[in-house]
Amino acid sequence: MPVKDKTIYPPYWKQFSEFIRFTRAEGYCEDCGIPNGFRRENGAVVVLTVAHLDHEGGPCECLVTLGKKCAKPSHVAALCQKCHNTLDAPARRINAAATLAAKLDGQRGLLKLAGGAR
Ligand SMILES: [Zn+2]
Ligand SMILES: [Zn+2]
Repeated sequence: MPVKDKTIYPPYWKQFSEFIRFTRAEGYCEDCGIPNGFRRENGAVVVLTVAHLDHEGGPCECLVTLGKKCAKPSHVAALCQKCHNTLDAPARRINAAATLAAKLDGQRGLLKLAGGAR
């Protein structure tokens, strides 16, 4: 089980993360569509995070093959805490990562036209 460690993130992670969350996803969770900064009924404020789809069934194997978290747009999703937790929940991770990857594949067609994704 890999430990979350800042040193395995690329040095330009911050910029990459902002690009994914606010340019590609336009500030909305790429899974459930909730906007960044939205206040839920329980008072919790939505903060988007960038999740690697490196779970079983997901496209990103960089942590395993390279020992690092990558900065590839096609390997990540901008997610709210709730969806990120769902993705990380052991019981649901295989399905969630695969579903999300398929969903993002559709959006990627547009990015490819713009020359953004690889
Ligand atoms: Zn969400
Ligand atoms: Zn990757």
